[in-house]
Amino acid sequence: MIPVTRTFLPPLDDYTTHLESIWETGQFTNNGPLVKQLGAALTKALGVRDLLLVTNGTLALQLAIKALGVRGEVITTPYSYVATTNSILWEGCVPVFVDVDPHTFALDPELIESAITEHTTAILATHVYGYPCDVWRIQQIAQKHGLKVIYDAAHAYGVRLHGEPLLNHGDCSTLSFHATKLFHCGEGGGILFQDPEVAKRAFLMSKFGHQGEDDYIDLGINAKMSELHAAMGLAMLPQVESIIAARRQCSAWYDECLAGVGLQRPKVVEGLEYNYAYYPVVFDTPEAMQKARSALQARDVYPRRYFHPSLNTLPFLPEPLKRACPVSESLAQRVLSLPLYTALTRPEVEMISTCIKHTLAA
Ligand SMILES: *Cc1c(COP(=O)(O)O)cnc(C)c1O
Repeated sequence: MIPVTRTFLPPLDDYTTHLESIWETGQFTNNGPLVKQLGAALTKALGVRDLLLVTNGTLALQLAIKALGVRGEVITTPYSYVATTNSILWEGCVPVFVDVDPHTFALDPELIESAITEHTTAILATHVYGYPCDVWRIQQIAQKHGLKVIYDAAHAYGVRLHGEPLLNHGDCSTLSFHATKLFHCGEGGGILFQDPEVAKRAFLMSKFGHQGEDDYIDLGINAKMSELHAAMGLAMLPQVESIIAARRQCSAWYDECLAGVGLQRPKVVEGLEYNYAYYPVVFDTPEAMQKARSALQARDVYPRRYFHPSLNTLPFLPEPLKRACPVSESLAQRVLSLPLYTALTRPEVEMISTCIKHTLAA
């Protein structure tokens, strides 16, 4: 069976070494030594200022919305994972879907301004597959209209743009360290705020707003990362460079095997150092996608429809929120993310590519 991804397992000894330290101190959570160590190591590895570690990438988004005081309408992308939209709704805000660029698959900045109303307070965009949004144009628009910018950077671990961490754009970027992501803690997430005051507020909010012995300073929730999860992160961290290198190699094999086949790939912008988080391909028609998908499944290969459905069509959305987003809806009907993980072999990539080519030729 070839799944879309396989969770990377660091050497078990590395994990248990970190667990032993928990057994020695007896501290399992509440910003313990391993969470602090992981926070410092990730901050350094990612080249960012200060990363708040949390339970998962969804709570990271919710805390970002809450700590930045975002209310009312939030302009957002329909082409992402459902957590992006759900976090807006969960925080009592209104998602206003703006269509994506047909080449980069990211929020189309030229469509943002016409969606802004007096109730708009923020833009929440996704660096989908780890490919950057048009961060400069979005910044200009946000500044002009006094909007906060949150990036769902769940796919963007380690991505750099013109030599700088992509995570440093916007008021805030959120990461997911879920087991299916490039770098993972089993479950986990991170938030990077540009304003240290907001970061302080979010930290407090992530632990019930509870400070010291018995001071309850702000509204809070429990979004703390446990020491067990931080131990997994610490075991993963030394592996990340070789994980990215292996994924780059697999992606290059796909590039080679699928060259000239006519599948659309996300446009790569200048100055990008990519992390090879995903290998999405877009077929000409939904029928071609379904044919390839069925043929692959018959060979025990399971690509995933990342990202489908287009989030503006989610069945539980109130009707008025289902604004048409033809580009995103069309992409969502035609895309497959192909298997990509460190243990994937060249013969497997060749078999997958040949299978796709046969369905396209038939
Ligand atoms: C995985 C993912 C999330 C959610 O992260 P969790 O850690 O699973 O809560 C949010 N947004 C995007 C784009 C994701 O892919």
